[in-house]
Amino acid sequence: MSAPLRLTVDTSALAANWRWFGAQGGVAAGAAVKADGYGLGAREAVAALAAAGCRDFFVATWAEAAALTMPAGTRLAVLHGLLPGETPLPGVVPVLNSLEQVARWVDSGGGRCDLMVDTGMNRLGLNHADLAQLPALDIDVLHSHIACADEPGHPLNAAQLARFHEACAQVPHARAALANSAGVCLGTDYAFDLTRPGIGLYGGVMHPAAAGQLQTVAGVEARVVQVRDIAAGETFGYGATWAAPRASRVAILNLGYADGYRRAFSGVGRGYVEETPCPVVGRVSMDLTGIDVTGHDVREGDWLRVDFDLAAASALSGIAQYELLTGLGHRYQRRYV
Ligand SMILES: *Cc1c(COP(=O)(O)O)cnc(C)c1O
Repeated sequence: MSAPLRLTVDTSALAANWRWFGAQGGVAAGAAVKADGYGLGAREAVAALAAAGCRDFFVATWAEAAALTMPAGTRLAVLHGLLPGETPLPGVVPVLNSLEQVARWVDSGGGRCDLMVDTGMNRLGLNHADLAQLPALDIDVLHSHIACADEPGHPLNAAQLARFHEACAQVPHARAALANSAGVCLGTDYAFDLTRPGIGLYGGVMHPAAAGQLQTVAGVEARVVQVRDIAAGETFGYGATWAAPRASRVAILNLGYADGYRRAFSGVGRGYVEETPCPVVGRVSMDLTGIDVTGHDVREGDWLRVDFDLAAASALSGIAQYELLTGLGHRYQRRYV
């Protein structure tokens, strides 16, 4: 039985977005495919991006790495490194984040690895002082990560860049990588040898420079479960938060917050009849959402697209683009086109 809601993932848009990051940075772009490819499917994202020429992929954990079969010629790195009790997977490299992780990796047999240095975010990575105690390592990519890349004028950006240059001079490595999606937009000074875009590949716009440059990757459509006529003054849905200003026709969509169509879209989201935007009315419920389709020919069983352009949907709902994508839920029939 196919589900009455669909998530369409445009893999050629994904590949085009990846090419944009390569052109913008002027160096090879990798791809963050953690959190199941930001909710859109890591396997499919890896296949599409590898076919487009992407070689370096990043997941958060070994469990995520184990779920992937990597195409020949690609490289997969685990951003969270190696925790106590974890066994590295052959052919997958850890991004080591602390002296403890370095010791663990060396004890487990070692070999080529990546290393993360902290340059001011104070999340993951070795501190400047740790670097003096680093044993000899065969480092492929030396990484750091920027805290405020989506705020182009933030002083921490330049400070982190300067500290990363120092770390690069101190720690032998084959390649260096600093920029996430927004970091690539800060300019080629931030690109080094490799970039690590994530959200932008999936259509998220994290920086003014990317606005209008990235293609939409995810499309959300749901079937109409019922169409109902609501008399002027009658209310719709939980909390009776919307009253029909005139005799209205509301299409009840098979889509709700359990599918990541968050309650924050209540009263502000949009469904589309053909190309005409129609407002979400009342409160989004767990499995159902009402759309005011007054004056349109909408029938039970029809499919309606909801506005899921990430930047616009985030502006409307106040929910971060990252959360909108990774929260999409598991009930969709997924289509890769
Ligand atoms: C998630 C992640 C990225 C990708 O970040 P986006 O903002 O999604 O482009 C890059 N680097 C690291 C270390 C990450 O954890």
